[in-house]
Amino acid sequence: MSSSSLLNLTGLKGVVLGVANPRSIGWAVASFLHECGAEVGFTYLNDRALRHVQPLADQIHAPFYTACNVQDSEQVKTLIEQIKQTWGELDFIVHSLAFAHQADLKNPISNCTQEGFKEAMEISAWSLLNLVQHTHDLLNEGASITTLSYVGAERVVPLYGVMGPVKAALEAEVRYLAHELGPREIRVNAVSAGPIKTLSAAGIPGFRSLLKTAQESTAFKRGVSAREVAQCIALLVSPLSRCLTGEVLHVDCGASIY
Ligand code: NAD
Repeated sequence: MSSSSLLNLTGLKGVVLGVANPRSIGWAVASFLHECGAEVGFTYLNDRALRHVQPLADQIHAPFYTACNVQDSEQVKTLIEQIKQTWGELDFIVHSLAFAHQADLKNPISNCTQEGFKEAMEISAWSLLNLVQHTHDLLNEGASITTLSYVGAERVVPLYGVMGPVKAALEAEVRYLAHELGPREIRVNAVSAGPIKTLSAAGIPGFRSLLKTAQESTAFKRGVSAREVAQCIALLVSPLSRCLTGEVLHVDCGASIY
């Protein structure tokens, strides 16, 4: 059965932030939403990623793909201008980006540097608030905003270091934004995905053993794929989930029940 006969998102327009390469969850989301009929623009970090993302943009006939380092306010403004010029409105945003220095993942959190903490927070959590601030007037009633989180926000995953508190902040943002945007019926949710081998994940020291253990301890006795995460995000984008907001959805083959 084709994706579009599972879920028809024709007419919806939106942006996915955080495509680095074909392994990115952001790419799985962008391509699945496109398969369902949505128009999808996306962002990538910098010129180094361009050779990886250009063919991806062609594949989904992306109306735009823009370099956007979320620490650079000029690049954020350029993205907003791009959205205004392309559509003048938005039905969905998928925020699929994060960063922390390796040392701040590996070291005890009590040794985390102030700079490292600030940077991880700014890129991975503040960027969502900044994005909402800038797109506020472009978001249609009933629009959907989704961010990506991990179970390390709720409980201790030793290898996750500083990203645990950072993702906890992100999940709290989801609830506050859901409250603030609720009167316009704009939905804000997080998907807490099981571990998936991507570029960012590979940077987590010991990720390989984390992945193996995590896969063995799910209800399905296997791990989740980026495409399966993307399918759940497509549901959050679709009007079928119009009453779902302020939630953290665990898309992890049932790992979080244990
Ligand atoms: P990825 O490396 O493919 O994507 C991370 C993205 O963040 C990249 O596109 C990178 O360029 C971007 N990024 C980093 N710094 C940035 C900055 N300053 N400005 C703009 N973009 C920046 O890895 P991924 O696993 O697809 O990660 C996507 C999201 O999913 C992240 O929020 C991650 O925490 C989350 N997540 C991943 C897993 C996993 O196991 N892979 C599990 C749960 C949640």
